[in-house]
Amino acid sequence: MPAHLECITCHKQFPINQVLYQCSQCNDLLDVAYTFGSPDPKRLKVDFLNRKLSPVPQDQSGVWRFRELLPFLDRFDSVISLREGNTPLWEVPRVAREAGLQHLAVKHQGMNPTGSFKDNGMTTAITQAKLLGARTVLCASTGNTSASMAAYAARADIRAVVLIPEGQIARGKLAQAIDYGATVVQIQGNFDHAMQLVRELSGEGGAYLLNSINPFRIEGQKTIVIELMEQRGWRPPDRIVLPAGNLGNCSAFGKALREMFDLKLISRLPKLTLVQAAGANPFAQMIRSGSRNLIPMQADTLATAIKIGSPVSWKKALRALEWTHGDVVEVTEGEIADSRALLARDGVGCEPASASTLAAILKLSREKKLMFSEEVVAILTGHHLKDPEYILEYHEGKLSHKGAIIPARYQNSLHTVAAESQALKKLLFDHDK
Ligand SMILES: *Cc1c(COP(=O)(O)O)cnc(C)c1O
Ligand SMILES: [Zn+2]
Repeated sequence: MPAHLECITCHKQFPINQVLYQCSQCNDLLDVAYTFGSPDPKRLKVDFLNRKLSPVPQDQSGVWRFRELLPFLDRFDSVISLREGNTPLWEVPRVAREAGLQHLAVKHQGMNPTGSFKDNGMTTAITQAKLLGARTVLCASTGNTSASMAAYAARADIRAVVLIPEGQIARGKLAQAIDYGATVVQIQGNFDHAMQLVRELSGEGGAYLLNSINPFRIEGQKTIVIELMEQRGWRPPDRIVLPAGNLGNCSAFGKALREMFDLKLISRLPKLTLVQAAGANPFAQMIRSGSRNLIPMQADTLATAIKIGSPVSWKKALRALEWTHGDVVEVTEGEIADSRALLARDGVGCEPASASTLAAILKLSREKKLMFSEEVVAILTGHHLKDPEYILEYHEGKLSHKGAIIPARYQNSLHTVAAESQALKKLLFDHDK
């Protein structure tokens, strides 16, 4: 077997098929680690692309078509896949102008089967769960993990149990988890409490934990940035901007970039810019203070997908920042709300947490920390329709945080008129009023 589990701190190794989320020696996080050998990078690139034309499910998947970079299975013909990945990379020229950039592109992970990037990691983690003979899979979730896990567990015919913070997840996500047949339990606490509880519960009755502390989730999420490089002809951008909640995705991006560099698929590493909401910024605070010890906080933001005060993967995220000479930016509720609406004006809808990326780009631009020619890619993590209440409240001028209304710069009001053409003409064409 070329794959094993390896502690990120003491580097103790464990067999790939051991059910383990933390090092038994020092309790730190685990990586899935490989001995890759030295495959021909040109050959790999051709194989990745050609698989898109194949009718075989594991070739069509935008995760498994990159399987040489996630070789933890002996064979790939029984993977649990919903044809995840293969998401679009779009230029957003009008938004770019606003940000003072020559080019700006977004990679939209919301265009996945359950509407978020969690699908990229769930296909790999559920496949491993099935292999290990798990009878129940378990997660704590701010919403999207539960929707994704519930769908993939249903496909794999495994029982799904989801813990969510009561009243704090977007309606679209809750609807999905319930509909896919998961056992959904609201707890009277926040995400961090739910996370603590599932860690205590894992192992009970053969339950397997599918939060991003599970290193097999990270393996699938690596393909987001691998596919991005493919879409750019393997020319890395200068900077990749992504939201940071539990810090699993940044960890995956860091690992992917390192491995692509080592395999000579790319010749340099782009900078990773991680974005946190000002009310949920424990990682930003740690980096700012120059400390190497994360202090948990009580998280508070309307961008519920990143409302996390005690991120599990902070050490892997720190490693990703060091590898890529990256940085962390924090943005306000108002900046997130307006950025989300601004993207929508360019025909690109996304959920609030995803728009924190544009908020950070606009902020860096205002602070003259971006060059006009810099090539920037923002990762949009979740679908437009995940949180319609947030959108409507914004346009009604009712979106509020901590009791204060958030002014809506791109407000678009709903009109109501009598059902007759005179009234319509007056509303639509009478400019002399
Ligand atoms: C999960 C999620 C995030 C945060 O990702 P982490 O890996 O927890 O840092 C951001 N945006 C959306 C839409 C998400 O679902
Ligand atoms: Zn260890």
